[in-house]
Amino acid sequence: MTLRYLYRKLSKEERRCPYCGKVIQRNIAVYRGRYYHYGCLNEAKMKRYRCQNCGAILSWLELGEAEVLGRRVRSCPYCGGPVRRFR
Ligand SMILES: [Zn+2]
Ligand SMILES: [Zn+2]
Repeated sequence: MTLRYLYRKLSKEERRCPYCGKVIQRNIAVYRGRYYHYGCLNEAKMKRYRCQNCGAILSWLELGEAEVLGRRVRSCPYCGGPVRRFR
């Protein structure tokens, strides 16, 4: 399936990759209704985090987002606890 039509259909802001923050000019991929660079999506899938509170192991794509003091931070989708990079 080609996603080439998306470059015309979507505005630049809609094509901003949530992983790297850059506008997607090529290698666009879709995951759960959000657009990523193909490479970024693969990297996000591989990146592991552990919840400091409940111990859940999560990929970057599974992380929730919370707002703390006006800043968006990554959090555990199950308990809302803080997450740390895990290898
Ligand atoms: Zn990207
Ligand atoms: Zn948790």
